Amino acid sequence: MTTYFNYPPPEIQAELKQIAEAIVAPGKGILAADESTATCGKRFSGIGVENTEENRRLYRQLLFTADDAVTQNISGVILYHETLYQKTDDGTPFVEVLKKKNIIPGIKVDKGVVPLLGSEDECTTQGLDDLQQRCAQYKKDGCQFAKWRCVLKISKNTPSYQAILENANVLARYASICQSERIVPIVEPEVLPDGDHDVDRAQKVTETVLAAVYKALNDHHVYLEGTLLKPNMVTSGQSCPKKSTFLDNARATVLALSRTVPPAVTGVTFLSGGQSEEEATVNLNAINTIPLRKPWALTFSYGRALQASVLKAWGGKKENVPAAQQELIKRAKANGDAAQGKYAAGSCAGAAAGEGLFIKNHAY
Ligand code: 13P
Repeated sequence: MTTYFNYPPPEIQAELKQIAEAIVAPGKGILAADESTATCGKRFSGIGVENTEENRRLYRQLLFTADDAVTQNISGVILYHETLYQKTDDGTPFVEVLKKKNIIPGIKVDKGVVPLLGSEDECTTQGLDDLQQRCAQYKKDGCQFAKWRCVLKISKNTPSYQAILENANVLARYASICQSERIVPIVEPEVLPDGDHDVDRAQKVTETVLAAVYKALNDHHVYLEGTLLKPNMVTSGQSCPKKSTFLDNARATVLALSRTVPPAVTGVTFLSGGQSEEEATVNLNAINTIPLRKPWALTFSYGRALQASVLKAWGGKKENVPAAQQELIKRAKANGDAAQGKYAAGSCAGAAAGEGLFIKNHAY
């Protein structure tokens, strides 16, 4: 085993670190708006909107043209390839709209999950082959960070060693390729909430998965200060008869992170994973207030938990756009407060604030 290697040159390190720090600035987090076309279809079918390219454009335009107040709490937006090249009604590229608001554009670069042969319904994530070229182009087109989602499942025999190792390694290769093109990788090993396991089991699985991810990132000489982690919060499984409390979740989550995520990592931007909007906000607040050691920024990168009320208020109707935009601003503010441990539970009502957003075996 050789121990000789190099991190990226100092100027690239500085650029990556500066981007990562800007994303997790106090009170700020990410809006994940990178739903694939198929996932958009699922969201739209819930509100009776047809899944056409034009409707997807109208919906993303609604999100990105919300009043500047939203920039108090949203530092970055994750886009889907199609969205990156779409424009507002007046022909302004979405990327320009975001940049003008001081919101950093990011891009989903994985190409979805594929089965691992011989495993118990486990998967890995594909998309490495042309990633270098795609990252180079995305950087030119204004993206400063990327997301790659891996999925781990809890059951009696899973996650397996095969799935843990494979997903850790693919995340490390992805992260290293992103950094070579001056893009901050968001490393997302999502342990799904599906199952009847308790919070203790979820914590142990999350610890094992994260330990493997950081071993792989180290082995690939990824510059950790120029990365962000996007993990699941640690909670009891969706069908666990004994639901863990917000305090249980906060303790299990921070302990799992503190045992496995090096302090060099600039920030942790949690996914919402099917929690209701309000649950995701209250859990984030509890994570930030619990008196345990937390050397990283702890904030949000929510998809469902930032958009459920927005979608409901919009319903595909032009006249509802301002009301839907207000929902986004309100929920972003609630999560910005939670990221600083300042959210009072129940203080942000929304059109869908209490609705569970769980989707079985969720694909993005
Ligand atoms: P949810 O917040 O809806 O879980 O999604 C976030 C995300 O980007 C998953 O990859």
